[in-house]
Amino acid sequence: MNDHIHAAFPLHTPGKTAKASPSDVRRNNRSLMFSLLFPTNRYSRADLGRLTGLSRVAVSDVVNDMLAEGLIRESGHETSTGKGKRGTLLSIDTTRLRIISLDLSQAHLIQGAVTDLLGLPQQRMEIALGPDNRIDADAIIQLVDQLATDTLEAVIGIGIAVPGVIQSGVIRESSALGWHDVDLRGLLEARFDVPVVITNDVISEMLTERFFGQAGPNLLFVKFDHGIGAATLIDDVTVVGEHHAGGEIGHISIDPENGPLCPCGKRGCMEMMLSVDALRERMRAVAKDERPDVIRDAAQRFAAALAMPVGLLDIADVCVYGPPDIVNNTFLEAAQHRLDLTTESTFHARTVIRRCQCGADITLRGGAIAVVRNHIESH
Ligand SMILES: [Zn+2]
Repeated sequence: MNDHIHAAFPLHTPGKTAKASPSDVRRNNRSLMFSLLFPTNRYSRADLGRLTGLSRVAVSDVVNDMLAEGLIRESGHETSTGKGKRGTLLSIDTTRLRIISLDLSQAHLIQGAVTDLLGLPQQRMEIALGPDNRIDADAIIQLVDQLATDTLEAVIGIGIAVPGVIQSGVIRESSALGWHDVDLRGLLEARFDVPVVITNDVISEMLTERFFGQAGPNLLFVKFDHGIGAATLIDDVTVVGEHHAGGEIGHISIDPENGPLCPCGKRGCMEMMLSVDALRERMRAVAKDERPDVIRDAAQRFAAALAMPVGLLDIADVCVYGPPDIVNNTFLEAAQHRLDLTTESTFHARTVIRRCQCGADITLRGGAIAVVRNHIESH
């Protein structure tokens, strides 16, 4: 696969190629073609043949299967080029198959939705959490049950976005939920008999930014919330790391000597210095006209911490997601200024720090996209 083709297949996980069995080859072809159309491209069968290098027979075989399954549909014709018959265009079918997506990253509720293959909510439901904010498996099952009432036959999977370290469907550690080694996937698959995909919440959000925001295949995504989390995409592969904790930067200290003491035992953790909660508290403690200084100081510390991964990975795009009282123009300008001072050189093109523009459904949508990706690659 050359670089050009590779870059055109964002939904296809590189590395899953060149296996021996015919069913693997078929699955791979299917994944390539679906990924070319995802999310909103329209191609004819001839286009798909040209882009994948597959024969007409191979293309039409896979296309027919995907049409029958409800993954893609025929949607209009090519505009006439004056020569011969106009080809029928194919696109992702958003009318038939459904995904149940849950977002466990919010403080006071579990948000759920039935989405289409592009992760757009078609129906929503939520459960308010009790005063202790605890989420238990029963609440999750109850919400999925309600969402599945009329749609389970069309559901290709359940996607759950969880704040924490996740390994093969098991939540290894979630300080936000107070969970340790919880096999949420096993629990839900036993109950609902459809594939369940558990994804870290920040990775979910990054996927939405990748497919529906402005990101390319290389991206550093940082979320400012009660804590701080990051996710990294390199050549369209999510970097999860040795212990599946890639992006868990909240307890990396940026001021280990003089920073405030963190419950984890260290001083000056990112979470203690730069989280939304910490910054709001600091702003409340100063006069109103000094509040921009709090934001500027935070932005400079953030950019200083960012310089090394940016240089190490040669990342040109840093996307920041957070509430507007923190991730505002003052923040972005100060962070950009500091990053430019520390990273710009003849061989590092300017890295742009920008605000994430995806809306409130960013987490739910990403959880659904993870299900689509899993479905395409495993069937
Ligand atoms: Zn800490």
